[in-house]
Amino acid sequence: MSSNSQVPSSQQKPLEKKLTLPSRETLSSLTSLPFVDTHTHLHYVLERLQSTPLRIDDYSTLRNTHFPSNLEFCINVLCDPETFAGDTLFPNTFMDWRVQASEPYIYLAAGVHPHNAKVYNDHIESLLLTILQHPKTVALGEIGLDYHYDNSPRDVQKQIFIRQLKKAVELDKPLVIHTREAEQDTYDILTTHVPPHWRIHVHCFTDSPEFAKRLIEFFPNLYIGITGVVTFGSAKNTQNVLRDVVPKSRFLLETDAPYMIPSKLNRNKKSNEKVAVCHSGMIPFIAQKIAEIKGVEIDEIMRLARENTRNMYGL
Ligand SMILES: [Zn+2]
Repeated sequence: MSSNSQVPSSQQKPLEKKLTLPSRETLSSLTSLPFVDTHTHLHYVLERLQSTPLRIDDYSTLRNTHFPSNLEFCINVLCDPETFAGDTLFPNTFMDWRVQASEPYIYLAAGVHPHNAKVYNDHIESLLLTILQHPKTVALGEIGLDYHYDNSPRDVQKQIFIRQLKKAVELDKPLVIHTREAEQDTYDILTTHVPPHWRIHVHCFTDSPEFAKRLIEFFPNLYIGITGVVTFGSAKNTQNVLRDVVPKSRFLLETDAPYMIPSKLNRNKKSNEKVAVCHSGMIPFIAQKIAEIKGVEIDEIMRLARENTRNMYGL
């Protein structure tokens, strides 16, 4: 007899789903070609796993137990100023960026996200500059404008975006851009403050095909980042951008984990299990959808993405 039998049915909780992650066999099943997750927040992946039975405290265990063996590198993106001080606030933990940088498969990018523009100050900038000087830091970002959430006032977002763009040019760092529902302002600011030849990764692209086209035409070394969003039925913009605008030489594969689990991995409504979090090992399921949209084999997408990653990041 279940212990719930004495509780009126209206008070019974729905069955809690068991949190799991896909097996390495599942993640290895689509392709054996090497790949890079060009944009992820692995420290938040580990943070989320802390509240599940799958507690993992370190990056090598995460890789060895959950990523397929063809994952080569991840670019871990630090965009919250709190993580810039990880080496003093959370030393020797997975939140410490120096711990991340010491992991052979992890590279870093750092910049203040538009959501956090309102807290930007000289102290935060000096912490940011320290991370940018580390040899494993391959880009400045994600920085930009987000008029969907408007978590910081728009004039502050613009001012902090420009300030960081100037730093990137001064320090000769490639850029990672976050832009959402701010097409004209993003275009105007980038074309005014960044030289046309600059290497730019516009990450998790969800805006219009026209905007993607203008960016690609103005900046010959600009790449469009494609996340698990492309697998969602609702992601018509991203699918159209890929089909009609983005040449094969101008896209990158990224998860933006812990967000946006590719739909095929997440679709198991009947089962009592739920995928706990998105992570870098899921990249092949994004490539599979891109291959379908482009009408080519998945291994061609894997090869192109690997080469585009080399051109953008030198990795
Ligand atoms: Zn991100």
